[in-house]
Amino acid sequence: MTPLMRQYTAAKSQNPDALLFFRLGDFYELFFDDAKTAARELQITLTSRDREKSVPMCGVPYHAAEGYIARLLRKGYRVAICEQLEDPKLTKKIVRREVTRVLSPGTALDPALDSGQNNFLAALFATDTAVALALLDLSTGDFRASEFTGATALAQAIDELLKTGASELLLPAGWPHGEQVERIRTRTLLDNWVFTRDHALPLLERQLGALSLDGFGLEQHPAAAIAAGAVLHYVRTTQQADPDHIDSIRFYERTEHLQLDQVTVRNLELLEPIFSGSDADATLFRALDCCQTPMGKRLLRGSILRPLIDAAAIESRYEAVDCLRGDLVLREELRRPLAGVQDLERLLARLSLDSAGPRDVLALASSLRPLPAVREALKRCEAPLLAFSLERLDAMEDLRARIESALQTEPPLTLAEGGVIASGIDAELDELRSISSTGRQSIAAIEERERTRTGIQSLKVRFNSVFGYYLEITRANLAHVPADYERKQTLANAERFTTPELKDYETKVLTAHERAIEIEKRLFAELRRSILEHAGRIRRTSTAVAEIDLLANFAHLAALRSYTRPTIDETCVLEVAAGRHAVIECLMESAGEGRFVPNDLYLDNAGPNLLLITGPNMGGKSTYLRQAAIFVILAQMGCFVPAERMRYGIVDRVYTRIGASDNVARGRSTFMVEMTETATILNTATARSLVLLDEMGRGTATFDGLSLAWATIEYLHAKIGARTLFATHYHELTMLAEQLPRLENLRVAIKETPRGIVFLHSIERGPANKSYGIEVARLAGLPSQVIERARQVLKQHERSERRNIAAETAAPVQLTIFTPLSQRVLDRLEETDVNTLTPLQALNLIEQLKNEI
Ligand code: ADP
Repeated sequence: MTPLMRQYTAAKSQNPDALLFFRLGDFYELFFDDAKTAARELQITLTSRDREKSVPMCGVPYHAAEGYIARLLRKGYRVAICEQLEDPKLTKKIVRREVTRVLSPGTALDPALDSGQNNFLAALFATDTAVALALLDLSTGDFRASEFTGATALAQAIDELLKTGASELLLPAGWPHGEQVERIRTRTLLDNWVFTRDHALPLLERQLGALSLDGFGLEQHPAAAIAAGAVLHYVRTTQQADPDHIDSIRFYERTEHLQLDQVTVRNLELLEPIFSGSDADATLFRALDCCQTPMGKRLLRGSILRPLIDAAAIESRYEAVDCLRGDLVLREELRRPLAGVQDLERLLARLSLDSAGPRDVLALASSLRPLPAVREALKRCEAPLLAFSLERLDAMEDLRARIESALQTEPPLTLAEGGVIASGIDAELDELRSISSTGRQSIAAIEERERTRTGIQSLKVRFNSVFGYYLEITRANLAHVPADYERKQTLANAERFTTPELKDYETKVLTAHERAIEIEKRLFAELRRSILEHAGRIRRTSTAVAEIDLLANFAHLAALRSYTRPTIDETCVLEVAAGRHAVIECLMESAGEGRFVPNDLYLDNAGPNLLLITGPNMGGKSTYLRQAAIFVILAQMGCFVPAERMRYGIVDRVYTRIGASDNVARGRSTFMVEMTETATILNTATARSLVLLDEMGRGTATFDGLSLAWATIEYLHAKIGARTLFATHYHELTMLAEQLPRLENLRVAIKETPRGIVFLHSIERGPANKSYGIEVARLAGLPSQVIERARQVLKQHERSERRNIAAETAAPVQLTIFTPLSQRVLDRLEETDVNTLTPLQALNLIEQLKNEI
């Protein structure tokens, strides 16, 4: 093995599960299996290092590496960067190399990260009494933790994790529930000592600059603090610089927000469409997102996942939205400058982790430029929430001036070439630059002079990084070369020469240039440090920007789409007049597909609190259900709603049991999934919850399904009293209205015309008309004899079914738990020891079994 390959093997063995990017000159090279993987994933050419082709290899130029690495991280790979630690020019031996950074999906910082979304690195940790979840977005500094207790602690923690989404999950080695977190592709096991009090807590305290964790709400939650400490441990061991931008953590409980589990988030298509590949615009996030800044977009996403439950907090958002909605000029005076604010949080994070280039720093400064205008506009807003944001919004004109005066207006991407720091900042730098530029001018002058002297018109003075400056003369002209030229290199068509004079200038220019770059690097590092001293101001400001952006966005939607301000009261009412589905309305409008038909909704604990909606497929039942949940989510986010009027009492949790679920593909039957979700609802919903059940019981035989749906409705009505919408195909259920006082039947309206049935999409009182299916068949051209016969059969069925169900449900049914006959026979046979059986006993046994049949 060559010394180089030995060096490579050592680095690789320390990072066996990462793709090793090995720096060789201007390239990062990958070898062996890493090379094959990278060539396949990045579509780059696979070559080999040796003639026998036993060492596959591929590479990417170092200056373009960031893009390639980002692509690999997005695909779930881990990447280790092995750098040259010495200047190859300064050493005769092999250059020292070491892995300086390990990048993984959860620690990505590159500009290609989706700006509308957090990129969370998560950790799960369980003690005997609690399961903790910590989430850190390294790229923004957003750091939070939560703890779950009770019998379902683990399930709740995993639900919260999957709902929030994370690109990487840290787990203690030996974590036993791996299959439940399979959806998170990159899972990293850490040694168990990382998840200990003694290691994790001091780490966390040091990071937060706190003597104790009390101030962060973690004092009573050691498991959460340990999970957070483990996240920090991982970040500190994989990054080359300290993540100083992480200066706080927030402990939260699920109950502080309107609770939405991941099934609901998926079913309602709040952030992603249920079926990947379907219309990406068909989500609530897309319908609502007119935010101007990445911070605003991320806050919007977070608000959708965690709407508020504190009426006062919600009201203060309404007030701010109200204030901006009515004043177009003011609103635009806020929104327009906000559009110029780039991702302050991510720029700060890159700066703090030392992966920011000169252009990032300039982007930070230019993002501060619009802030004075934002402040001016905010001063005209009365709403307390906006006044509070104004207080925290620091335009940081001092910092901007410092950056703008220090940097050139259009600096190169990296520091390597020089030309980053403005002139007039450092006298030595300016002098070196002038030496190098006069030197270059002199060298250019040499070319002209030597052409005249030698009479060789094609003579050129050139430069390359290996040979420095040289005079190039084509083969045909070699006869005219003067005696004072020294030969440097011979090429196929030309020879390269130097002269003492050229060498002199070369040394001057090159040393001046190198020293200048050294100075630029030092000045840039100083600038970076001085910006980081203001990290707290930058973070506070970017939080304020996010909030202002979100509220201005809500106001914009309210004005643009005639959303109205909801009223909150103490009741358990959910009342909507002429409401529309926020997402479908948008989609219909942009596709020019007519208008969404508005509908009313009234639910009240005192009754009706359970709406049973029947009607044909495609009538609009699901839409009506989802719409109800979206009203609550929007309202509790502090957003206005697409309705003429809305009044509601705070909802603590939204439950949904709706159609498709991807669990089916994971080997659980549709029916099992449906029943598990229903069980969760029946076991945990409260009188303040909103429950949506769509087509419950479809996954099993008609009578099983009907009976389960029936019993579920009775239970919801008698025991829970949550505001509930129940859409069903089982017309039999409509009879429940006779027994349950707080149940109301609704149906989707249809109109029969000679050309077919038209869906009116409006919701009316009363149960659906059952003959609808046969009507469709008639319109489809089935012979009239068949239609008539079908009607007769249907009538008979209806009559007998009604009788049966009425008879059985009039008195409480005693459910007997019985084992099927075949099982009982099998059990008896299994219990019997044939060897000890007398012939008479055997005969008796057969007789007993026979009697059972
Ligand atoms: P169901 O659940 O009864 O089968 P859906 O709710 O899926 O029906 O709605 C069927 C179709 O009708 C969908 O394409 C939906 O966009 C449209 N739709 C539903 N409600 C309305 C409405 N109020 N106004 C306009 N179109 C609607």
